[in-house]
Amino acid sequence: MATKRDYYEVLGVGKNATQDEIKKAYRQLAKECHPDLHPNDKGAEDRFKELNEANEVLSDPEKRARYDQFGMDGPMGGFDPSGFGGFGGFSGMGGFESIFDQLFGGMGGGMRSRANAPRRGADLRYGLRISFEEAAFGVKKSFDFTREENCSTCKGSGAKPGTQVDTCSHCKGTGQVRTQSGFMVTMRTCPTCGGTGKTIKEKCANCQGSGRERNKRTANVDIPAGIDDGQMIIKAGQGEPGVNGGQNGDLQIVVTVTPHKLFKRDGRNLHLDMPISFTQAALGADIEVPTLKGKTKFRIPEGTQTGTRFRLKGEGIKQPNSYMTGDLYFTVNVEIPKRLSEKQKELLREFDGTLDGREFSDSRSFLDKVKDLFK
Ligand SMILES: [Zn+2]
Ligand SMILES: [Zn+2]
Repeated sequence: MATKRDYYEVLGVGKNATQDEIKKAYRQLAKECHPDLHPNDKGAEDRFKELNEANEVLSDPEKRARYDQFGMDGPMGGFDPSGFGGFGGFSGMGGFESIFDQLFGGMGGGMRSRANAPRRGADLRYGLRISFEEAAFGVKKSFDFTREENCSTCKGSGAKPGTQVDTCSHCKGTGQVRTQSGFMVTMRTCPTCGGTGKTIKEKCANCQGSGRERNKRTANVDIPAGIDDGQMIIKAGQGEPGVNGGQNGDLQIVVTVTPHKLFKRDGRNLHLDMPISFTQAALGADIEVPTLKGKTKFRIPEGTQTGTRFRLKGEGIKQPNSYMTGDLYFTVNVEIPKRLSEKQKELLREFDGTLDGREFSDSRSFLDKVKDLFK
């Protein structure tokens, strides 16, 4: 791999540049070196790619922090601008065209329709549903998907093997023709070759000259422990092939996590509502609290109030790409018994008669406040 230039150097900004300064520098440079403005200049294209990569990292505070800390070679071996191991975060790169649209507001036709420019292949997006436990502990999954690929018979040329592909005589291979009326010069896609700059005498029988075929593939995904609902795993270059030497698209796997019957997840922490009886709350009790791995014993102290929250350290979910694991918080709800028998009610009344008010601190301070109010 060629040595890469420092991202700050590429954008021509200092290490302490603000997000605004980075954005400004990127927009200025992207306008200057956009490949559509420098046709047939391979250097411009490379500079543009380098610029986009630098911007993608430096404009994202999280990626920028990681870059500042680890440089090009992240701890996972090789810096991947789309996140560690392709995990999480949208790359948001829609190829040259969409960036051009962002910068110039889509000029429609004209320069941007240079049809034989390298184009990045389409990203493919696949939704994958996994269980709560699979998300917590990680899982290996595989699934089938269909992908457009270069035709295996003609290797993407669209011409019958053994026959020749000629340069289009109408546009001289540029894929564009120039028409002038008065002062207006318009560049249009060449009608003879459809913008490819090539003419095919005999079409490939397998793909009817399109150069593409649809194939079924199997993707194997290693889902890391701790992935959360809606997060995405990116398999770089596994999308559809690029055109005219452009990069392949990515395969994006968007993970949906089925909710759990008991636990609610909040990042790496888990929350649980736990009913206990009022006797347990009053006297204290050893209870069994469900966790993701099984059950754990916990001592509820005497005089526990309803709504009290307890913490089981390390019983949460592992944070991806980190050694940190969250905690399990459970909140006790004291259940007041219903449908008591006469005998039970009698016992409670008897119990009530033994109280002198000091047993209830909340009620006492409440009554004091009421007394103050009506003095
Ligand atoms: Zn073919
Ligand atoms: Zn042509």
